[in-house]
Amino acid sequence: MARTAIRARLLDFIGDPTHSAAAVRLVDDGLLLIEDGRIVARGEYGPLSRALSPSEEVSDFSGCLLLPGFIDAHTHFPQLDVIGSPAGGLLDWLTQHTYPAEARFADDTVCQEVARFFLDELARNGTTSACVLGTVHPQSVDALFAEASARDVRLIAGKCLMDRNCPPDLRDKGDRGIQESLDLAERWHGKGRLAYAITPRFAASSTERQLKLAGELASARPDLYVQSHLAESEDEVRWVRELYPQARSYLDVYDAVGLVRELSIYAHCIWLDGADRTRLAQTRAIAAVCPSSNLFLGSGAFDFRHAVQAGMTLALGTDIGGGQSFSMLATMRAAHDVARMRGSALRAAQLFYWATRGAADALGWEGRVGSLESGAEADFVVLDPAATPLLARRTAGADSIEALLFALMILGDDRAVRETFIAGQPSKSWRKATPAALSPADSARTRELTRRFMGRLRSAPGGGVFKP
Ligand SMILES: [Zn+2]
Repeated sequence: MARTAIRARLLDFIGDPTHSAAAVRLVDDGLLLIEDGRIVARGEYGPLSRALSPSEEVSDFSGCLLLPGFIDAHTHFPQLDVIGSPAGGLLDWLTQHTYPAEARFADDTVCQEVARFFLDELARNGTTSACVLGTVHPQSVDALFAEASARDVRLIAGKCLMDRNCPPDLRDKGDRGIQESLDLAERWHGKGRLAYAITPRFAASSTERQLKLAGELASARPDLYVQSHLAESEDEVRWVRELYPQARSYLDVYDAVGLVRELSIYAHCIWLDGADRTRLAQTRAIAAVCPSSNLFLGSGAFDFRHAVQAGMTLALGTDIGGGQSFSMLATMRAAHDVARMRGSALRAAQLFYWATRGAADALGWEGRVGSLESGAEADFVVLDPAATPLLARRTAGADSIEALLFALMILGDDRAVRETFIAGQPSKSWRKATPAALSPADSARTRELTRRFMGRLRSAPGGGVFKP
């Protein structure tokens, strides 16, 4: 296979910048060589370019910053079409927007079309890997994995386990959800770059029996990921306390059944106490912080200072569609703002680390993605510091890499992404091949599904889903 050569400013991390300023590694005029989807050499352009044969073309991104692709540690692909819908808070958001949107995923055509658009949008934003929740329908995850596999995207996904306190159409019947999770893991886990996550939606939407079975599965299969939500809003925490009066805390509900361990990913983690933070740190479970979503739904402000002090493993998530953007740059900006509101300051290097190498290492991908090391898979993003007139003006005056990264995260979004490479391939090449939206007939059919669903929801006893 032909070798690809790329010239750019190369940035990655050799450690966690919280502990050492030397963790940031920069080559101002760098060259990256890629073969068979892997990085085979990286270094200074001058000496390394002498190894190129005269016939080898160099893709020149001089002036741009090339870094490992972003990793979105928590997002929902079925919520693509409700992003930007107003809601009165988390529980209202679920009832008014999320569940009706997820009901459409009973339809295979919807699953496939949304999966394609969703993966396009991730790549357009420089995100090369994500931890994704499907709906309760196993076919939603089949569709996402099939599409990710065709594009060779490194992806973690799982079908939601939910068997109470949600609309009847979206409820696992008996223990079938656990069996479906196992079947999905059998079909996809470890196939190429795909991995399965046992995915109880959140403590309130699973019976104690379902959570217990999910925990047993997590213990029997330590190779599988676990993903769920934890302590997102105060109303939710109160509700979980009523449902599980024996638990010491919300985290303890999951911990008691064996769901808190390495490779467990918990979104939000806002309303925790010191004991919860210590326990998360001990187990090396990952807190996927989703500040854009937390601001949008008014859920609360993540406590970065105490989380870092406790030694918790952190990553960042967009939480589409509660989150307001697919952009991890926008997500970093929101994280910065949330930290400021709580009186602490986050450096840009720290946030870029959490969005790249920090997440990769936490997910067990050390040496595979998250760095530009030789041998790593060639997943990376090229950011253009002059993508907009304001960015160009501001970054021209940046006198350090920290200043440049800071301006990029405050002013940047998808417009700053010049190109995304996945397994060595520019994602623009496959984006062109992606068909457009649903056909009018398919759209009409799925609108009808939503209408019927809302009708049944309104006529259900109590007229709604939640009684928090
Ligand atoms: Zn979420």
